[in-house]
Amino acid sequence: MLNIVIFGAPGSGKGTQSARIVEKYGLNHISTGDVLRAEIKNGTELGKTAKGYIDQGQLLPDELIIDILASVLDSFKESKGVIFDGFPRTIAQAEALKAMLKERKQEVSVMLDLEVPEDELMTRLIKRGQESGRADDNEETIKKRLTVYHSQTSPLIDWYKADGKYQHINGLGTMDGIFGDIVASIEKL
Ligand code: AMP
Repeated sequence: MLNIVIFGAPGSGKGTQSARIVEKYGLNHISTGDVLRAEIKNGTELGKTAKGYIDQGQLLPDELIIDILASVLDSFKESKGVIFDGFPRTIAQAEALKAMLKERKQEVSVMLDLEVPEDELMTRLIKRGQESGRADDNEETIKKRLTVYHSQTSPLIDWYKADGKYQHINGLGTMDGIFGDIVASIEKL
């Protein structure tokens, strides 16, 4: 069972690299951001709640996102493992994930931290906003998301180091080069 947490600031390439990991290793993929955007598109109550937070560049409350995660996890049958993309984003979420996997007699295999300098993140996100029209990829919201990342999410780096799961990946370079480094880290497990 290969359970991978793909970690990094907004714009670090988590989604892009997740797709390639899924293709190579046949894992299930959970992107909490994608789940929430689908809820918004479908006009559900959860979607309406989520939109308020997303448009402000803020995180949804832990209890809400942990419930969503648990129900998606339960929907996977006969899984070879899961790639967690955009979750956990707080220490409470990391603790909940650890407990959830333990109940299933599993654990996180590795946390891959895609590190990208701040100016490059800004450039990538502004470009993505222009190309995809993602509502939260505008300069003001991007700045808020990066602040939230530094205050609420980046403490997870030390948390996963202490848990013995941390693996640094240089997120600057070609898509193939970065993927090569990810594969090398996975193969070492
Ligand atoms: P993402 O697509 O992963 O960048 O997520 C987009 C937005 O969805 C974030 O800025 C948050 O508002 C919300 N979101 C996604 N994942 C989480 C999470 N694990 N905890 C709280 N909020 C989240």
